[in-house]
Amino acid sequence: MTGGELEKFVTDMGQPRFRATQISQWLQRGAPNAAAMKNLPETLRHDLDAVAQTLPVQIVKKLQSADGETTKFLLQLQDGEQIECVLMRTTYGNSVCVSSQAGCAMGCKFCASTLLGLKRNLSVNEILAQVLIAQWELRSAHATKCNSRPNGDANNGDVSHIVIMGTGEPLQNTENVIGFIERANADLGIGWRRITLSTCGVVPGIRDLINWGRPINLAISLHAPTDELRSQIMPINNRYKLNEVLAAADDFAALHNRQLMIEYILLGRRDENGDTVLYNSSPEHAEQLSKLLAGKNCMVNLIPWNAVDERDFASISGNAVHRFQDTLIKNGIHTRIRRERGTDIGSACGQLRLNSARKKD
Ligand code: SF4
Repeated sequence: MTGGELEKFVTDMGQPRFRATQISQWLQRGAPNAAAMKNLPETLRHDLDAVAQTLPVQIVKKLQSADGETTKFLLQLQDGEQIECVLMRTTYGNSVCVSSQAGCAMGCKFCASTLLGLKRNLSVNEILAQVLIAQWELRSAHATKCNSRPNGDANNGDVSHIVIMGTGEPLQNTENVIGFIERANADLGIGWRRITLSTCGVVPGIRDLINWGRPINLAISLHAPTDELRSQIMPINNRYKLNEVLAAADDFAALHNRQLMIEYILLGRRDENGDTVLYNSSPEHAEQLSKLLAGKNCMVNLIPWNAVDERDFASISGNAVHRFQDTLIKNGIHTRIRRERGTDIGSACGQLRLNSARKKD
């Protein structure tokens, strides 16, 4: 509901208008139900829970990493579809990785999210609900720690960053993703520059973002340094070639004077002897990638591959990861290795949803 709709809803229930503000504050903190809205009269809480639902999702499973830094949620939508989101507590703030679709049609060969195909696009509210679930998790943890209830004004570490990098291709659901970002900014106060959208390279969608004009961060899932290799693992590359994708991404980055993020999963493969060969991750690939990115204002995030049983790839050694990074750095490309988070809770994107769907079958 918009603010006006909520006000009408509340006054129609015979309540004073200020109750709408109170409810709105609780909703923005991700209150799971009206019972949690402690400053409302008990009868109103009861009445609200009888007629309304705060979020269009329910938590099916919540997994917490042993180090306490990562919480992964499996969520169920009202039509029974399931999605994932991940809360990461970092030194720079609290980041939520959200899904933009139930499933994915893009067919990247290393990804679990696409194995069951695309079910449907998520609505603005369904994407926003993922942030609110994380927000509530943070508030509840803080309340427990301080032995007090969430009060809405404590500097207790709310969600500060959003990455649209979970299941789905956001630029296949551009209108709702843009609607979500606008609301995250307006309702939750998340700054444009703290929001990152990651695409596998849907060029018309990147052009739409340029026309939209908000200075968010753009990440390109690149994963191969040549068209030949990229087309083997990412079908989107048959539609939009590397040069076209990078040209659109450059235009976006130049418009907002932003550094472009390049995501690169380091993949190996097993040969007939069971030894790991470097699929896109040899020093030669690093040289090719350096050439492709030479002169660009970009940061390469190297991502060690999280094993997915159904996928025909292998993880590469830490030495090979560092050799790849060293080659890029030697060639003047800003590069970092993404820290693996929550490996003890199955952090491969889409794996939790896939396992749950298989159990249902
Ligand atoms: S990597 Fe992203 S775009 Fe590719 S299949 Fe997985 S979710 Fe879809």
